[in-house]
Amino acid sequence: MAVLKITEFPERVLKQAGEPVEEFGAELERLVSEMFETMYAEEGVGLAAAQVGLPLRLFVMDCEGLRLVAANPEIVSAEGAQEGEEGCLSVGKVHAPLRRAERVRLRAQDVRGEVFEQEAEGLAARCFLHETDHCDGVLFIDRLTPLRREMVKRRFQKLRKWR
Ligand SMILES: [Zn+2]
Repeated sequence: MAVLKITEFPERVLKQAGEPVEEFGAELERLVSEMFETMYAEEGVGLAAAQVGLPLRLFVMDCEGLRLVAANPEIVSAEGAQEGEEGCLSVGKVHAPLRRAERVRLRAQDVRGEVFEQEAEGLAARCFLHETDHCDGVLFIDRLTPLRREMVKRRFQKLRKWR
């Protein structure tokens, strides 16, 4: 297994809607293991395939005790509202406040292709929305006001220069 390289804004794959996952088997299991390893190495709570350069509708997460693989994720319902800071490994972990739904129900397939539904609240619900957005080629900064988006981009560009 290997830690994969994180794709960073503004690489194109992050703006692409992912292709559906159609093959479930050893190759997908291996990819998922590497995505978990990469996510833990980067201290993230979620990681989508686009973030390791693959335009696929797939993410892994381990957030508030909820550890799962979601292939072909869909948001079935989203209710309420929460305020909170959000960040992304592909945007150098620069955070910004973003309003999201408080309770979210996700439908997806697991690593064997079995369809499941899972509900979450709070941070885990935020994670469902953030990672499903990645599968649609949407970044959290796309959901910020133009002013906040520019602030995040500028901070991220500065961070990149210092590395
Ligand atoms: Zn992200």
